[in-house]
Amino acid sequence: MAVKGQLFILSAPSGAGKTTLLKKVMARVPGLAFSVSHTTRSPRSGEKNGVDYHFVSVQEFQAMRDQGLFLEWAEVHGNFYGTSRPAVMKQLEQGQDIILDIDVQGAAIIAKDKTVAAVSVFIAPPTLLELERRLRGRGTDSQETIELRLKNAAWEMAAAPAYDYLVINDSLEEAASTLQAVIIAERSRGHRLPTGEPIVLVKKT
Ligand code: ADP
Ligand code: 5GP
Repeated sequence: MAVKGQLFILSAPSGAGKTTLLKKVMARVPGLAFSVSHTTRSPRSGEKNGVDYHFVSVQEFQAMRDQGLFLEWAEVHGNFYGTSRPAVMKQLEQGQDIILDIDVQGAAIIAKDKTVAAVSVFIAPPTLLELERRLRGRGTDSQETIELRLKNAAWEMAAAPAYDYLVINDSLEEAASTLQAVIIAERSRGHRLPTGEPIVLVKKT
């Protein structure tokens, strides 16, 4: 079956505000589904299994990976994360637009995958100092985790030029408007319906 939905990829260094931005934009733009990844990371307080992530053991993750069930997967900050290929393909075939919140390694894998076409957006913090302030302010990660995430942020930022769009999350409101504009513009490409199908003009008789 032809793929009719649009795949959007969002990546950012941890703490840049991707989750906050995404929630804002998904509440404003209708018809976007969030792809729930599988992860071996432990749930943070408030996170729900099946909503934020499918929380699985390392053994379960490896079994899925070995069966080829991931569209992409990567080890990020010491845990495994992966996107279910069957879940994403099913939604795309049904004409559903999907947002993947994945890291730069996963985005690079999808960019090379000829079976899917994605629009990619990199969310950057205004400065690394502000990133650190946000990571600490979030209050969900240990000192060790924060240090690892800050260390990784430097090379993650270097991947930004490979993305289709760059959104700097300084003012949350402005960044949300820009991300919203990107999604709406991409949906309007080639005079498509929100499902991705081309609009066929019927001649009046
Ligand atoms: P990510 O999903 O990228 O790891 P979060 O969405 O959890 O990041 O945001 C990290 C922290 O930064 C949160 O406490 C959030 O409220 C805050 N935050 C997000 N965007 C902004 C912004 N534009 N200005 C100030 N603080 C922000
Ligand atoms: P967090 O643990 O803060 O929720 O996410 C850490 C990082 O893992 C983020 O950069 C996030 O985008 C990334 N991530 C979440 N799900 C996936 C996934 O399915 N695949 C990949 N490659 N990265 C993911």
